[in-house]
Amino acid sequence: MPLFFHTDLLFGDQEAWGTYLQEHGYEHRQFVQLGQLGTPGFAIPDYDLFSWEDSTGYARNWLTTHESVHEVIRGITGVSGINLADVNLANESEFYTWLDAHKQEHISIRQALGITT
Ligand SMILES: [Zn+2]
Repeated sequence: MPLFFHTDLLFGDQEAWGTYLQEHGYEHRQFVQLGQLGTPGFAIPDYDLFSWEDSTGYARNWLTTHESVHEVIRGITGVSGINLADVNLANESEFYTWLDAHKQEHISIRQALGITT
């Protein structure tokens, strides 16, 4: 089972969102570590994706940072994806569209990096 497996949650479920961020942060850290251990290695930025505050400014900052990490990973793996910063997570339908696109991209990244557990 991947580190990031609670990838589906209900809009507004704060507890589930906290779990989501933790698992997601650990999976991003796994990507970073695979790059450090690989031969040849590859460098994925090790930004803090665990922390969260419920404010528009914080969310915007997190989304931009997170998108920049995904852009680096896309360059390394060849996986493609939408602009994950282009979303208003406070909008229910945008939230679900983002959730699904983000989940699919993580699945593709795991496959590209050979993460099978
Ligand atoms: Zn991600």
